[in-house]
Amino acid sequence: MKSIIADKDKRVFLKILTTIILCMFLSAIGLILMLRSTGLRLYLLFISILIISFIMVVFYLIMLLLLILRITKGKGIPKPLIPIFEGSIKSIYPIMIMFSNMFKIEKNPLRRFFSEINNKIVILKGEKLQPEDILVITPHCLQKSFCKHKVTGDVNNCAGCGECDINTLLNLCKRYNVKFEVVTGGTLARKIIKDHRPKGIIAVACERDLSHGILDVKGIPVIGVKNHRPEGPCRNTCVKVIEVESAIKHYLRR
Ligand code: SF4
Repeated sequence: MKSIIADKDKRVFLKILTTIILCMFLSAIGLILMLRSTGLRLYLLFISILIISFIMVVFYLIMLLLLILRITKGKGIPKPLIPIFEGSIKSIYPIMIMFSNMFKIEKNPLRRFFSEINNKIVILKGEKLQPEDILVITPHCLQKSFCKHKVTGDVNNCAGCGECDINTLLNLCKRYNVKFEVVTGGTLARKIIKDHRPKGIIAVACERDLSHGILDVKGIPVIGVKNHRPEGPCRNTCVKVIEVESAIKHYLRR
């Protein structure tokens, strides 16, 4: 499965991460200078521990940055490093969101990049699944707003008029024999995941919901596919069905 990481998203993500590294590094330097210029022997041990911690975090973040660059270039990383990398990305991402809130930086590029990196991690893990273990989950805003058929709860209620992507996705999921659910929000999504107990999820959503969902679901790989919003958020959205098919094929290793 190919994933295209937009240069802008990558730049924003890497800029924020580099700024955090620089802040940590400068704080460590500041502490060292403070230690040299003051005679605060009482706090010597405390400040020394703080400096060492800062330097270790800076080193760790630089390693993370190098791994991100490696992955975005389509290169692999050693298998034992994948869980550490995954945990690190999921831990640093909320801090980066806080950072972007503080400095009023647009969050969507960050969210998209996080979701793309997450997809890369799922691909690197390379687990092969059976069709019945795969769940495709989409938001109900994919359905045309004028449609009277209730597809949440049972997507087979779609009358197949072809006005929205629900019909195409339904046919796709039937063809590959994978499960397909349309949800109204995070609570229903969580319930459906609990009921179906999938081993692999393909989630279609906007940047914000995708990143929340990826962080929310523990222990199950999630491939995120971003929806498109030609009429604005949460109304008559659509998806590139070929990207969903590509994700299904990845799980099935076809
Ligand atoms: S394809 Fe299905 S869900 Fe979409 S508008 Fe037609 S009947 Fe409604």
